[in-house]
Amino acid sequence: MSKFVIDKKKNRVYIPIAFEGVYDFGSIECSIGNIIEVLEKEFPATSYVETGYTTKRIRDKLAGKNITKTLWGFKENGFTIQAIHIFLSGRDKIELTMQEIEDFRILYDLGIKHTPLNICDVNEGLQIKNATSILDMVFHLLYYYTLNNLKLVKCEHCGRWFVTSSLKNKYCTRNSTVAGYTHLNCEQAVRNIKQQCGRKKNRIETKSNNAINLKKYSVASSFVDDFVNECYVYLDEISKKNSAENLSNYLLFLDRVEKGKEWLNYGNSK
Ligand SMILES: [Zn+2]
Repeated sequence: MSKFVIDKKKNRVYIPIAFEGVYDFGSIECSIGNIIEVLEKEFPATSYVETGYTTKRIRDKLAGKNITKTLWGFKENGFTIQAIHIFLSGRDKIELTMQEIEDFRILYDLGIKHTPLNICDVNEGLQIKNATSILDMVFHLLYYYTLNNLKLVKCEHCGRWFVTSSLKNKYCTRNSTVAGYTHLNCEQAVRNIKQQCGRKKNRIETKSNNAINLKKYSVASSFVDDFVNECYVYLDEISKKNSAENLSNYLLFLDRVEKGKEWLNYGNSK
């Protein structure tokens, strides 16, 4: 049994460990996503909600494989991440309701065990003195979020979960995962990568037009049209989702064209 703390004053979620500090789950906004990220890494699967996930775990167990891991002091066999995905049920944005949280609690036979962190002030946070499992922790986090009117959102850029007061907020406060932009938070990274892509695209167009105008390279005339069309394919994906993957793909494409000066020998290979 562990003490699980949601500390509003410090904006930290953690489990204190005797003489060793804490298991730190990060800020209140990001802790649920940080827990999900670790569980998905430890128990990888293409789908957690299909029966195949359970079947495979049972088969592995019967085959004598050790499917249990110890995480944050709890024994975990991959069931929690399945329960979380059943709750998320493919949604990217969730307006948490007490009804849904109660259903979750009843479904997994969890008890309400939280007490205020400071007995004189409920607003300082919550603690559970005897958390028994990771699922127990997750339930209490979801309960805390619901109580505080926070919404659960999957970051459009990095794909990790966070909570926010408004569903209009699309990005979390973590740093981007795109190489060269990891010092910026997701929102700032999206803005900077898009600016950088715009600049690269303009430079490539200018350089290739100059090459054509100088008539140095007769084969380059169709390059600009083809290049712009290819850009549209990437931009179309980005307009649907500013994900790290979509932005990286466009950035890598522009880098390749610019560094390779592809307009200079364009058409030669055709
Ligand atoms: Zn993010």
